[in-house]
Amino acid sequence: MKVLKFGGTSVGSVKNMANVKNIIHDGSKKVIVLSAMSGTTNALLSIAESITNKNTNEATEKINTLHDTYFTVIDELLVHDHLNKQTKDYISSVFNLLTTHTHKAPSALLNNEIVAQGELMSTYMFNAYLKQEGIDSTLLPALDFMRINKVKEPDMESIKRNLKEVMDRVPEATIYITQGFICLDDKGNISNLQRGGSDYTATIIGAAIKAEEVQIWTDIDGMHNNDPRYVNNTNPISDLCYDEAAELAYFGAKILHPQTVLPVREDHIPVRLKNTMNPECYGTRITSDATENGIKAIAAKDGITAIKIKSGRMLLAHGFLKKIFEIFETYETSIDMITTSEVAVSVTIDDEKNLDKIIAALEAFATIEVDKNQSIICLVGHAIVNHDETYKLFQILKDVKIRMISYGGSKNNISLLVDSKNKIETLQKLNDYIFELAHQ
Ligand code: ADP
Ligand code: ASP
Ligand code: MG
Repeated sequence: MKVLKFGGTSVGSVKNMANVKNIIHDGSKKVIVLSAMSGTTNALLSIAESITNKNTNEATEKINTLHDTYFTVIDELLVHDHLNKQTKDYISSVFNLLTTHTHKAPSALLNNEIVAQGELMSTYMFNAYLKQEGIDSTLLPALDFMRINKVKEPDMESIKRNLKEVMDRVPEATIYITQGFICLDDKGNISNLQRGGSDYTATIIGAAIKAEEVQIWTDIDGMHNNDPRYVNNTNPISDLCYDEAAELAYFGAKILHPQTVLPVREDHIPVRLKNTMNPECYGTRITSDATENGIKAIAAKDGITAIKIKSGRMLLAHGFLKKIFEIFETYETSIDMITTSEVAVSVTIDDEKNLDKIIAALEAFATIEVDKNQSIICLVGHAIVNHDETYKLFQILKDVKIRMISYGGSKNNISLLVDSKNKIETLQKLNDYIFELAHQ
């Protein structure tokens, strides 16, 4: 069985939903994972924000605007009277719930419940649409099987057990439809797998049912060799191995949620990235097979803070790094990059929540300098550290100031830290130096 995930754009218009229908309607048994319609999760978060700020009128206005958008889509999507009415009744119940929430005390739990409605609505609507088109499908409520544990990781044992149980209730089904992104936490409250989490839902399900393949259908022809939002002349990459895909996703390639490949890597379940608007295109295939050597792709992750830790007295004394790492461990903050010199250590973090406490603890034995608004530019490819063409990346040194370089941590990754205001220039120039010159 395959698992096919369709993202926000793929279910974001009636035309695209028709594409999805054509892609999935081939008679084979499959699980379909859907995101919320594009724009919905942002709109729901913004409603939650108004409620948090106790701005009931603003929240109500936003709820009404979103409600109208949904009713317009339903009228276009569902021409069958009964299905149109039934779906509007369901969607109205969702918006009534949101309206009730505007009068409740703000809380993180309430926000999670609000933001979960996007996937609940898109799956309901798409299921009704398939019925209208004469295609049999079965809704599997994600909240009946998708669980995360205390440390917010998927609870694979309980997911496997629960998913089997809900699928076994309708063994004859060909198309199972479920919500991406949403889950229950260890206390049974509604939670989610973070932004872009539907990709992760798909591979978690893929691992749980030992799928033959997981397909991530989106709005672009696979993983490109640089960020197409900022860089001209990027190209899709046909094959990646799990490690390469994991590095790119973790370091900012938005096409994949950072954790996407982790659940399926061990079982060697292939992941295909495909374009809903151009299904014939090969896209990208992610497997455990070794791929060509050399720099394959570049990605960038924003919102990075660099911390320079300088100590005269304890310098290079054994135990110095241990002391530093213990502080980051105490404040549950992971370090992405690290470089050392004779007089200082620089590390980067992407979570500033405990920055003040971390600085205070470090200042007990070191002098600290902090640079905010940094971006990690990550170059990924098999054995790039020793590759003949890799020197080309260092031409970038003549164009922008590099705050840190991490080379040799693994053979497959080289990371540069730059000020975020130089990110786009760095990405474009690296693209020109590495890919365009390489292909001349
Ligand atoms: P979906 O809603 O289908 O999950 P996303 O917006 O999450 O889609 O991901 C697809 C988008 O990721 C693309 O439209 C593209 O702008 C962006 N993107 C960023 N980096 C890359 C990359 N390296 N390759 C392809 N797309 C990328
Ligand atoms: N709807 C969620 C988001 O916008 C999850 C997803 O699209 O994957 O982040
Ligand atoms: Mg996404």
